[in-house]
Amino acid sequence: MRSIFLTILLIISNLLIYSQPMQSKTKILLLMGSRFEITAVHSSEAIIDESIDVAIEEVKRIENLISEWVEGTEVDLINKNAGIKPVKVSVELFTLIERCKKVSALTDGAFDITWASAWKLWHFDSTLTKVPSQAQIDEILPLIGYEKIILNKQDTTVFLTQKGMKIGFGAIGKGYAANKARDKMKSVGIENGIVIAGGDLITWGKMANRKNWTIGIADPENPQNAIAWLEVGEMGVVTSGNYEKFVMINGKRYAHIINPKTGYPATGLISVTVIAPDAELCDALATGLSVLGPAKGLGLINQMRGVECVMVTDSNQILTSKGLSLNYYKNNKKNQTHQITIGQKKR
Ligand code: ADP
Ligand code: MG
Repeated sequence: MRSIFLTILLIISNLLIYSQPMQSKTKILLLMGSRFEITAVHSSEAIIDESIDVAIEEVKRIENLISEWVEGTEVDLINKNAGIKPVKVSVELFTLIERCKKVSALTDGAFDITWASAWKLWHFDSTLTKVPSQAQIDEILPLIGYEKIILNKQDTTVFLTQKGMKIGFGAIGKGYAANKARDKMKSVGIENGIVIAGGDLITWGKMANRKNWTIGIADPENPQNAIAWLEVGEMGVVTSGNYEKFVMINGKRYAHIINPKTGYPATGLISVTVIAPDAELCDALATGLSVLGPAKGLGLINQMRGVECVMVTDSNQILTSKGLSLNYYKNNKKNQTHQITIGQKKR
């Protein structure tokens, strides 16, 4: 879980700028196997409570749609019918998979939901005690590849062409859920809020004191400290960490993001934060960039309008995309805080 990964600074102020005082309420609970923090800002406590309830319901609904672990979900049925037959799914899941394939194409296959075919080799818990052999990896590699997901738009069916293939939404599900929870909260009148889904977050409006949301990007070496602070309005901020979920085998760290081309864990970056209005896109890109590495990753983000990133390499270098500017810089020692702003024009 990455709740420690991003720290949120919520400055509570009693300044009453508007005629009705704004209040802020946060509910923390476990959803999708992760710590969720749902905060609503409004003058009416009843509306705040209602909004938090509808957000929770929405996240539970999404979990039941996309979990590959819960028996009988649409995703479970797709996986069980791999190499057998196409499975009819809801428009919601169908379009999510369509978007996943688009991000796969954008990242040259670095983000790929068919990575899940490798799940049986890479458990990332205490059951993983030795590195899979090259022969084992070679066996599963033909099962990985987003182009082997066949989508039929007319019938909304999904077909995985190879027996043993699997899809999994671990790299995008929380971002999607954050977007949708925000939408639900807005629909009941919440114009200011933040949803933190296991460290992936989306903000909108302002804090109760009418200031912008201030988001800290954690120092991978010492997650209590921030390496940078971001001031944001309506924005997704999502971090993928290659240091947080991993196993140690013979003194070497094997982390939970798999390079779909090699079948082995990605290396080179220990933390990637993507900043863009769409938390789902941020989530998918953060995972994809972790695989692509610093040079290709920055190259991609620097071509995308409205998307920025902060990366920490395994040699502790902090890299930022062109549209982020450091407007406060104490010194260049590790663990010092930078404040950065978003939205500079890209060349
Ligand atoms: P977190 O789960 O900490 O939010 P990510 O969003 O980066 O981190 O998702 C990592 C998860 O995505 C892994 O635990 C795994 O379930 C899945 N995954 C691993 N490698 C890939 C990949 N190359 N493409 C898509 N999903 C992946
Ligand atoms: Mg992700």
